Amino acid sequence: MHIKKDIDFIIVGSGPGGATVAKELSQKKKKVFILEWGGNDPLTGSFWYGAKTLLVPGKSMLFTNQLLGMVRGITTGGSTVHYYATCFPAPFEMLKSYGIDITNESEEMRNDLPVAPLKDEMIGPMATDMAHPFATTALFASGVFRFDKMFSRRNTLQIMVKAKDELGGRLTDSGGIRKVLDDNEKRKLSRGYERAKKILRNAGAKGIFKTGYLAAHPGGTVKVGKLVDSNLKTEYENLYVCEAIFY
Ligand SMILES: Cc1cc2nc3c(=O)[nH]c(=O)nc-3n(C[C@H](O)[C@H](O)[C@H](O)COP(=O)(O)OP(=O)(O)OC[C@H]3O[C@@H](n4cnc5c(N)ncnc54)[C@H](O)[C@@H]3O)c2cc1C
Repeated sequence: MHIKKDIDFIIVGSGPGGATVAKELSQKKKKVFILEWGGNDPLTGSFWYGAKTLLVPGKSMLFTNQLLGMVRGITTGGSTVHYYATCFPAPFEMLKSYGIDITNESEEMRNDLPVAPLKDEMIGPMATDMAHPFATTALFASGVFRFDKMFSRRNTLQIMVKAKDELGGRLTDSGGIRKVLDDNEKRKLSRGYERAKKILRNAGAKGIFKTGYLAAHPGGTVKVGKLVDSNLKTEYENLYVCEAIFY
């Protein structure tokens, strides 16, 4: 294939960001070429599938300078093959303040993808925001020396506590991440932990403990208005960056 002649657009990555752009362009009859780093194995949902696509150090698992692990799906479909399917409407007003109005696109997306709450019969007894497989649960428990909890997955209810962090951090030239979790952010997470503890205690839970911190969902790494304009164009001619942060 002669790329220059036959291709209108090259898209790097087949996650929701890249896939959406590819879909839009091909619907406009443009010739699109998608470059994907990961494999294309069928989704099995097994632990090994997860390990292969999510837990490879330096590829799908990156570490901050405080050794907080951050995962991303390096596979066809990107991180969506692992995500927990929690979603909220887009922050339309905030986006408008950057000169971006996605009301119509959001409507179009809702028509394309019938987003709906899970039906009751699809929610198992252990379903929570963070129903981890056995190996991950054991890893989290042993990481904070709760060896007694390593094999208690079946009667453990997990609550994820998240905190909005301050702007900061960066991507390194070699593709790593740098980000410092400061005391204020740690305080927010501790407050969240206290609340989660209350919820669990009221639900009758015993032996409540917290795992170590994790980094997640790096977003705004290429800031609108700073590194890209409101059309997501970079300073380089013909280079656009579109990352999809869902919530
Ligand atoms: C465990 C987990 C749970 C999550 N849960 C939720 C949730 O419940 N709700 C929610 O809204 N969001 C959730 N997310 C976040 C959501 O999945 C991401 O916001 C979204 O997938 C980001 O889309 P993206 O296209 O920007 O990047 P990605 O989905 O990460 O896609 C990037 C793509 O680029 C490819 N790639 C990377 N580098 C290269 C390269 N050098 N060359 C070629 N290809 C490359 C990757 O293989 C991948 O296919 C979760 C994420 C994870 C990891």
